[in-house]
Amino acid sequence: MDLRSLTPADLRELMLARGEAAYRAEQVFRWLHGPGAGGVGAVRAIDAPGSAPKALREALLEESPVRPLVVDTMQEGADGTRKFRFRTFDGRAIESVLIPDEKEERGKLTLCVSSQVGCAMDCGFCLTGKMGFARHLTPAEIAGQVRVLAEATGLAGTPFNIVLMGMGEPLHNYDSVMTAIRILCDEQGMAVAPRRITLSTVGLVPAMEKLAREPIMPNLAVSLHATTDAQRDRLVPINRKYPLEALIDACKLFPLKRRSRITFEYVLLDGVNDTPEDARRLVRLLNDVKAKVNLLPLNAAPGIPYERPSDARVDRFARLLAEHGVTVSVRKSRGRDIRAACGQLIVEGQKKATGRRLADVMA
Ligand code: SAH
Repeated sequence: MDLRSLTPADLRELMLARGEAAYRAEQVFRWLHGPGAGGVGAVRAIDAPGSAPKALREALLEESPVRPLVVDTMQEGADGTRKFRFRTFDGRAIESVLIPDEKEERGKLTLCVSSQVGCAMDCGFCLTGKMGFARHLTPAEIAGQVRVLAEATGLAGTPFNIVLMGMGEPLHNYDSVMTAIRILCDEQGMAVAPRRITLSTVGLVPAMEKLAREPIMPNLAVSLHATTDAQRDRLVPINRKYPLEALIDACKLFPLKRRSRITFEYVLLDGVNDTPEDARRLVRLLNDVKAKVNLLPLNAAPGIPYERPSDARVDRFARLLAEHGVTVSVRKSRGRDIRAACGQLIVEGQKKATGRRLADVMA
């Protein structure tokens, strides 16, 4: 267990079990996650004054080491998007993307972080899916991507958004993702506001129902991509287990704050799901849902058996939704030149993962 995977509550328990005062937990948490806690794996702040006693920190590190999460490479795209490749303690590679807001000179940024090494969902148009699933990331690794990027870019202090839209299906790694969110949002750590976090899921219905009862809740995005079960079964295989009706029902029951909505992501595949009939079916499907739609024209790649539709087809689809009162946006693909855009995160050279695959999630 990585010391940085413990929540403030876990640390309190640990302190009490060790016969330490409860307030030490806060000090230890601040040392591990607060300002200056150290970008890379090493706990740089081990000698920082004013926090928990050095002997205590050393004893804790002895029991649960802090595992390294090191930036391997960074690539910057023409539009300012930066893709970071991290190496984990066991030699795996994961990617995160830092996306500057186009409209603002300086300031608002979005960090796109990964939740797994690879992905078991095997969606037909996604390169990460082609890697297969290697392992879940730990809470320390999920929150760590944010901490390292924030430090690497001098972000600490400026507000930024976090999207769980990197490699992996976050709800397939439910407990670690929720623990990471609790760590990120804690006042003593990075104090991220939950409304600045968006979790994107392929639609694991039982996990969505569980998420609906969490005290700290991120915004929800659902990767829909199709409007009939026959079509979605093909594009998003998990649909065979959690078909559209169950998914839409779970969305209707999802608690939303006033004025907030679920984002439905819809990747547009030329001639496959981008016809006027698809658009009309989408309008009907979302009829009773507080929804907004984000269209993602496919980022095509070798090995992906689909094409990106023309701008005219994308516009036609978007216009049909808008004419029927659906709030719609078209995601501009960022960082395509460095393969940092949606569905392009894949670690080349990493051998195809064996491990648990979709069949186990479906079972
Ligand atoms: N597993 C989660 C998180 C991934 S988010 C989910 O499915 O929601 C990444 C988004 O990019 C998802 O909506 C995904 O379906 C989409 N995507 C995947 N491959 C893509 C591609 N080649 N072009 C455009 N979008 C893609």
